Amino acid sequence: MKVGRLDGGRVVLTEADPPRAGPGEVVVRLAACGVCGTDLEKLRGNYQSAGRIGHEPVGVIEEVGAGVERHRVGERVFVHHHVPCYACAVCRRGDFTFCPTYQRTNIDPGGFAERFRVPEENVRRGAVLPLGASVGWVEGALLEPAGCALTALRRVGFHAGDSVFLVGLGPVGLLYSRVAHALGAGWVGGAELSPLRREAAERGGVEATVDPRSDGAAEELVTRATQGIGVDLAVVATGAPAAVSLAARLPRRGGTLNLFGLPEAQSRLDADLQALYLHGTRVIPTYATTERDIADVHALVAAGRLSVRDLVTHRLPLARIDEAFRLAAAPAEALKVVVTGPALDPDG
Ligand SMILES: [Zn+2]
Ligand SMILES: [Zn+2]
Repeated sequence: MKVGRLDGGRVVLTEADPPRAGPGEVVVRLAACGVCGTDLEKLRGNYQSAGRIGHEPVGVIEEVGAGVERHRVGERVFVHHHVPCYACAVCRRGDFTFCPTYQRTNIDPGGFAERFRVPEENVRRGAVLPLGASVGWVEGALLEPAGCALTALRRVGFHAGDSVFLVGLGPVGLLYSRVAHALGAGWVGGAELSPLRREAAERGGVEATVDPRSDGAAEELVTRATQGIGVDLAVVATGAPAAVSLAARLPRRGGTLNLFGLPEAQSRLDADLQALYLHGTRVIPTYATTERDIADVHALVAAGRLSVRDLVTHRLPLARIDEAFRLAAAPAEALKVVVTGPALDPDG
């Protein structure tokens, strides 16, 4: 079968033996998998993890291993690649995505493969989520990044009516704005370089956007929208260090700065620390999501309360994965790029 992998600074298609389901495991035939910003960062060498790519997959269960009772062959599912242990000191405090087990778990060989194996612990802990009949493949492939937004909003203590400003409106920033809107945000604004992305933001829940290159524009917009108070929540949804300095100036007194995008490796915090101190700004990094939050995001999509479909501008078969990665890294051309597999594109 075909598998997309990283090879030096390139993403290449290789051949591998199809996986088999061991006891407690399932094998899924790929329908679609989104290209995530973190996949692009791994390609650039900016994010050293286990090096596996593709973690937003949906597909059809093709094989269930011995002892698997809650799933059946033919089921349409989303699969979450990481699961926490739910038993350690970190998990007991509810910090699931920071559990030491979390990053160790993964699907094999990754989400950009014609077929992939889901380990027993992922299956057992509920990481295989059946898709509702009204949730399409493309929407399913957006559940993981939308889940990251929900996890972030819960972790920072977001309330309905809160005002939000996002610095960076790439696919994940756009999803964040839509989840915030679905949860009843009072006002959402954003700063983004790409006109294509600013347009997508304004057609789905973001009231106003600015180009961050225009000096003072974000501060001015926030001042106007909040009567000079500042936003309840400013979100850094990009890795660019300059975005942090901008976002740090936007929260109200006692407000929150959410570090949401993967920062550039080796970058340092550049913010007025005395201002953060005197304003009581809560600086909260959030990372990744859990299968529980993904299930909640799925319920929002299934109920028609969260619409995400229009964010996918390109669908490319696995055979063209290099082009998919090139497009995903081109903010002027694409929003979300999804790679499709044999369950959706039999001749892809
Ligand atoms: Zn992702
Ligand atoms: Zn744990």
